[in-house]
Amino acid sequence: MSSILDELNEEQRKAAEKIEGPVLILAGAGSGKTRTVTYRIAHMVKEIGISPLNILALTFTNKAAREMKERATALIGHEANNLVVSTFHSFSVRLLKTYSERIGYGRNFNIYDVDDQKSIITKIKKDMGIKDNDGVQPGKLANRISKLKEQGIGIKELEREIDMRIPANRLFAEIYQKYDEVLKANNAMDFSDLLLNARKLLDDAFVLERIQERYQYIVVDEYQDTNDIQYEMINMIAAKYRNICVVGDEDQSIYAFRGANINNILNFERDYKEAFTVKLERNYRSTKKILDTANELIKNNKSSKGKTLWTDGSDGEKIKIYNAMTVYDEADFIVTEMKKKKRDGADYKDMTILYRTNAQSRVLEEKLLSANIPYKIYGGMQFFQRKEIKDILAYLSLLNNKNDNHNFYRIINVPKRSVGEKTLEKIQEVANEKNISMLEALHYIDEIPVRASTKLALKEFYNLMQGIYSSLEEMSIKEIFDEILIKTRYIDSIEDNKEDRVRNIEELLNSITEIEKQNPSMTLNEYLDMISLSSATDEMEDDENYVKLMTIHSSKGLEFDYVFLAGMEDGLFPSISFDAPEEELEEERRLCYVAITRAKKELFISYSSSRKIWGKDDNLRRPSRFIYEMKQDNLEYVGGKYASLKGQSSSPRSFTPKIENFNPFSKDKLGIFGKKSGSQTTSNVNSKYKVGDVVNHKKFGRGKIKKVDAKSMVVEFMVGEKKIALVLADKILEK
Ligand code: ATP
Ligand code: MG
Repeated sequence: MSSILDELNEEQRKAAEKIEGPVLILAGAGSGKTRTVTYRIAHMVKEIGISPLNILALTFTNKAAREMKERATALIGHEANNLVVSTFHSFSVRLLKTYSERIGYGRNFNIYDVDDQKSIITKIKKDMGIKDNDGVQPGKLANRISKLKEQGIGIKELEREIDMRIPANRLFAEIYQKYDEVLKANNAMDFSDLLLNARKLLDDAFVLERIQERYQYIVVDEYQDTNDIQYEMINMIAAKYRNICVVGDEDQSIYAFRGANINNILNFERDYKEAFTVKLERNYRSTKKILDTANELIKNNKSSKGKTLWTDGSDGEKIKIYNAMTVYDEADFIVTEMKKKKRDGADYKDMTILYRTNAQSRVLEEKLLSANIPYKIYGGMQFFQRKEIKDILAYLSLLNNKNDNHNFYRIINVPKRSVGEKTLEKIQEVANEKNISMLEALHYIDEIPVRASTKLALKEFYNLMQGIYSSLEEMSIKEIFDEILIKTRYIDSIEDNKEDRVRNIEELLNSITEIEKQNPSMTLNEYLDMISLSSATDEMEDDENYVKLMTIHSSKGLEFDYVFLAGMEDGLFPSISFDAPEEELEEERRLCYVAITRAKKELFISYSSSRKIWGKDDNLRRPSRFIYEMKQDNLEYVGGKYASLKGQSSSPRSFTPKIENFNPFSKDKLGIFGKKSGSQTTSNVNSKYKVGDVVNHKKFGRGKIKKVDAKSMVVEFMVGEKKIALVLADKILEK
């Protein structure tokens, strides 16, 4: 009899068939992990008869979740609607919407993003009398708070973590505490709170039991990137039935900087002694050359266990490497190659440009525009982060949750109502006195001494909000939106960039209309949750024929025929400082592995000899060390229009050729710079730096070399010993 599982290979099938008990699928990129778990779910529902309501599938991005659900729908039809396939954050919101009252939050809590966090912290600092220009940016503070939260370090635990004798730490603790109080008072949660509070819910035996009964079968994709809270959540829910299937690849763990713990996957067999482990070794995605290049690179990670991945696909083209003189030249190269591919019959939607940081997209965007290539950028300044969109969403959020004083502050003067600091303080006083929210305090506006015109404006605002609030249940989201826009005369009030902003508002209206068409019963609360949880890759629609630009981090789990990896320069990628610990370099290398393995047919790598870094021209850019770590036979150095100039430029060619396995200039290759090694002006760093020499470091001052080996040296400075990569030595040391 035929089965859904016939479309899997033998190994994949074994993993998909084992429904009861813990299962670990550990395998390299493109080996069909995601496909296996998707088919497994379809098999469970369609062929075993397990209710989709009892299945929980967790993935890393909204896009991945949506794809998995679409795939499942194609395999099993409408029953897939009852599956919960979501990200950890969406799943947390789902739990909190049912049970948040048990931990002291109203069900209609609002969700704050980084922007909200920043403006709350700015206000706290101001209230505390801390100067704005104290060098501590609210964004940094928000980041630190989130990190602490996700490590389970709340205010109470903070004292154990940081030295409270230091005034700056005491100040930070105070800000952290106030920040938490504000969120709680506003009935709001930030992204870390979502995870943290959902995890906290599970300590409640009543809740835990219900959730364990509901989700008897759990699947987690990209398990290597779970953090400790996520790990605890999964394992607490799975504790009763132990039907947990996790999937991942330790070589693709790229979120350590956000607290991901690679040990979660490495210890799975220890956590579940009876675990059934499957390794998948056949790659279905990439050509041999691409696969080989990825494998060669990742071998350099000591932490990598090494995997055998094979494919019976074609050899494929060599990886093209291009050394640009400038970032514009680099963008030109990419655009030209894309046009060539297009002429040969490829579609723009099958091409992507990946980069390490969002800032790299600007120049690429310029060139794509002028070349008339349709493109879309994911990440960076996102649609829902724009001022006009946030303003309107702030109105909606305040209507959803009238305790949300933060959003009250955001819109009380948008459009301008001439409400000054003094007036706000007075409203705050009334709110405190009566223990009500700022919005509710406006009910008593007649008792507050303010100018007549301001009073009128505030009354109008209050009546508008009250009016909508009292008929919230009956109104559709679009009606609420219209009411706000018309009554506040928001559009009239826009001064700068009017055309763009109006277009964005129109776009918001379109999306609301579309969403309501698909979900006519959606409440305002559900709508806001959905918006808050949408992420960078969310708007990606595959059928649209445009080139996609994104960071490597957001490309996780995706695949494209043609991948252009831009900005492969030391310092940018790997993006680490010279003395960064080995683990950081390894994380960057895993990121590079992820980038390479996104490509199905062809991979193009480019780097530029000059680039602006923090507003300054850096003309001494060097190719990424990762390029040298790839098997050189698989690479093809393609010349550009500046190829003939290459020998004249002094810098990137002036370094360290004599190191084993690290030699772009060996005779038999024309080298990255299209020039033979003999004519390089190389400084042989190996002999330049000797044990005992004294060197001067830009940051650490004078130091003595203690050890030199093939790739690095150890120098003793006042601040302690530092390891310095030889390739970087010339740049940061003076003899
Ligand atoms: P990543 O590590 O990047 O997340 P993955 O291991 O999850 O990769 P998938 O995305 O599931 O891999 O699969 C990679 C590609 O190979 C997909 O296009 C998938 O459809 C295809 N594929 C996987 N297994 C098979 C198979 N048995 N038969 C045909 N195609 C397959
Ligand atoms: Mg996958």
